[in-house]
Amino acid sequence: MTESTSIGERLRLLVNTVQHNERALQRFQHVELLLIEAEDFAAFLDILTGELVQVFDLGAATLWLDEGARLAAELHAAVAQSAPASDHLRWGRTAEFDLPEASPMLGAVDALSDEVRAALFGSISDDASVAILPLRHRSGPLGYLSLIGKNRERFADGMATDLLARFAGFVSAGLVNVAQREQLKHLGMTDSLTGLPNRRYFEMRLEEELQRAARHGVAVACLFMDLDHFKLVNDTHGHAVGDRVLAAVGACIRSAVRLGETVARFGGEEFVAVLQGDRSNANVVAERVRRAVEALVVRSNDGAQVPVTLSIGVAVTPGTSADKGAAARALIDAADRALYRAKRSGRNQIVFAADGEHESDSESEAAAEDEADSRQEQV
Ligand code: GH3
Ligand code: MG
Ligand code: MG
Repeated sequence: MTESTSIGERLRLLVNTVQHNERALQRFQHVELLLIEAEDFAAFLDILTGELVQVFDLGAATLWLDEGARLAAELHAAVAQSAPASDHLRWGRTAEFDLPEASPMLGAVDALSDEVRAALFGSISDDASVAILPLRHRSGPLGYLSLIGKNRERFADGMATDLLARFAGFVSAGLVNVAQREQLKHLGMTDSLTGLPNRRYFEMRLEEELQRAARHGVAVACLFMDLDHFKLVNDTHGHAVGDRVLAAVGACIRSAVRLGETVARFGGEEFVAVLQGDRSNANVVAERVRRAVEALVVRSNDGAQVPVTLSIGVAVTPGTSADKGAAARALIDAADRALYRAKRSGRNQIVFAADGEHESDSESEAAAEDEADSRQEQV
């Protein structure tokens, strides 16, 4: 009798476990499907730190990538310009960690060294528990995906890790895939002379930037920069010196603009930048760029200094337009027209597009109505 009860009890537990695993597997598969569809690294990261956390009711999830791994380093280079600023994404070197390289590690957070905790999670509650999943590529370790449980009981040493190990394999493969895709994108969108992103990339970035600005109700500025009398540099010193000037100016503009903001070579001797912030911020940055280029020392083959200046057109949007593709084009056009005025007024100077100049016709009325309200904030 007792024998049969205990068999019945064991059977019930077994069925429970199977059902539990079945549900967990379905949840993992749901997340895996999303990961396959992720367009880029930012979306991939969003799924791991958002959807995954929600589906499994976690405290958080963090991704730590090993800069020493070739693939991760390439990914880092590819997304450096567009890197999603996230507390859940960390880069570092694995060398000193005392963590498993192959199978998941489960346990209370206070069992880990301070160093590992700081590197993988940043700040984390002592009451949390974690599942640390090593991510691997054929060529070696890539990093760790850490699932953070809300309490000590969530992940404990000795729990089954088959599903977690399976999921880690999937995330590794997905990461490799998305890294390769980012790299391709990166390669196709980089100008080889200056190493800056090209026009195609810039237009894409500007749309994203406008979207983000509209969401947060902040302004975005577009700088259109064109070297003054550059044809003369080529004619006087030769094309090779002209190339050298372009590379130097590209680096100069890059270093005069904040790191997270995009600077690109639009084409020929034209550069563009997209800045977060209002008109007065754009003015400060544009003036910094103008002065830095003016002060640039580039020498011709015979040692003579080649004078370099540029003119800058600036257009600022309050970030409200609905069609971001059209808004991006209109903003670039407005900055380009302002640049034309800067050229006509004598070059080596900055000209701003009039407020609302970039707005499409359907929006200009609303812009005019808003103007009375917004004028006070305009600088
Ligand atoms: P402005 O002040 O009105 O802009 O005069 P500009 O001479 O700079 O303008 P223009 O459009 O007449 O000439 C641009 C020159 O830029 C002509 C072209 O040969 C040169 N250029 C474009 N791309 C490159 C490049 O990759 N390398 C070199 N060396 N020159 C380039
Ligand atoms: Mg030009
Ligand atoms: Mg020019």
